[in-house]
Amino acid sequence: MGCYLVVTREKIYTGCRFDRQALAAGDKPRALGTRGRAVTTSRKEFRMTELLGSIEAGGTKFVCAVGYGPEDMLSEVRFPTTTPEETLARTIEYFEAQARRHGPIAALGVGAFGPVDIHPTSPTYGRISKSPKTAWIGANIYAPLKQALRVPIGFDTDVNAAALGEWRYGAARGLDTFVYLTFGTGIGGGGMVGGKLMHGLVHPEMGHMKIPHDTASDPYEGRCPFHKDCFEGLAAGPAIEARWGRKGETLPKDHPAWELETDYIALGLMNLICILSPERVILGGGMMQQEHLFPRIRRKVRERLAGYVQAEAVLEKMDTYIVPPKLGNHAGILGGIALAELALRH
Ligand SMILES: [Zn+2]
Repeated sequence: MGCYLVVTREKIYTGCRFDRQALAAGDKPRALGTRGRAVTTSRKEFRMTELLGSIEAGGTKFVCAVGYGPEDMLSEVRFPTTTPEETLARTIEYFEAQARRHGPIAALGVGAFGPVDIHPTSPTYGRISKSPKTAWIGANIYAPLKQALRVPIGFDTDVNAAALGEWRYGAARGLDTFVYLTFGTGIGGGGMVGGKLMHGLVHPEMGHMKIPHDTASDPYEGRCPFHKDCFEGLAAGPAIEARWGRKGETLPKDHPAWELETDYIALGLMNLICILSPERVILGGGMMQQEHLFPRIRRKVRERLAGYVQAEAVLEKMDTYIVPPKLGNHAGILGGIALAELALRH
């Protein structure tokens, strides 16, 4: 057992990092903490008692937090994403202040906007390659944090971080292959295959798959700067606004925008279901807060699949197959905590 003791001016914190062998041998781990946190004694799952840090590094805002897990978060702050220097300096200041207050974090998890280099062995690990936020092109998110905070860092895309959060605490618990898609100013996709977060050559770009575009019924050309009418170019929030002249959240439920939108989403999901065979599909992001979209998407996906995928999940249990994130808006920040946990274990 690697136990620790942190003494601050106000309090004494203690905790243990449980030894897997001890768990396997059937020992009952007990936290020494003074905060009264419950500790699971199951062999598969045990709650970390180290304080962890999380960053949801988005293109428009950064969310930073420290805590132990969904029921025990100590602090959270959010601020707009400005220049890399200013934003990262503010992030580091936050964690230094939290360390003075609660004790040092044992590890940090970062879910970053991108495209971003997430290969730990790459010389450009942590660097943003392309971004509409031009000040961030070439900026490294990982390196300054590592240099300043000097703790293990789990670093991944924002979508994979949210997916990991759902796997650890939410709608993907117990699954080993699932997809998490987020719909907002863009469409991002991630998740796990065979129990591992999807990485590969760079990282999946599910939002940029090509889907059928009937230009007779939808003459809008699409707004992806790279592909025009890819999935994101046709179906992300800015495309809705450009096509209908109003932001999606202001359109009524019976507006034709949603019929078209759910057509596109069903096409995208059909491709992903046929290619990856996910055990569940989680749809998050601002747009998906409109719950009326889910029944339509489920019906259209079932129609598109046309009974070909012979699985109870899609034939009979679509309500539990295509679902919103259980963690809601907290998937990203709790995903960072889960990434930190992974960084600490490996
Ligand atoms: Zn595209």
